[in-house]
Amino acid sequence: MDGHRTIGAMRFDLPSPDATTQPFWDACRDGKLMFQRCGTCGLAFYYPRPFCKRCWSDDVAWEVASGRGRIYTFSVIHHNDLPPFNERVPYVAAMVELAEGPRVMTNIVDCDIDALRCDQSVEVAFREISDDPPCTIAVFRPIDPATVR
Ligand SMILES: [Zn+2]
Repeated sequence: MDGHRTIGAMRFDLPSPDATTQPFWDACRDGKLMFQRCGTCGLAFYYPRPFCKRCWSDDVAWEVASGRGRIYTFSVIHHNDLPPFNERVPYVAAMVELAEGPRVMTNIVDCDIDALRCDQSVEVAFREISDDPPCTIAVFRPIDPATVR
């Protein structure tokens, strides 16, 4: 009535892009997963930062990830009160190690939850989770056909 948002309309899953992270979110909308590499020491890293997390050099450049990786660790979430996560349970919160090295906090989708295992091979997929503001996130799904539903 006066613009106040109700608890039911609140979103706790949307990012707040800034000058450092905007290129990452733009790439997601284009179906590309980006990470950064340090031009001084060569470290590949994620999440986006304006400097290298190892040597603090600000000589960092974007690279497009292959989209392949493996599940480093994961947890099946059965209870979450925050919208919109409460509508998604059960879901899989995971850390995926990209083929290029960086580890990414993400969700595993299109899978048989009971069949998931650490070290399992996965590939990136993209989900549009909001129109306004526009937001597309990178998620992962198992490559092994036996675990794909
Ligand atoms: Zn470095």
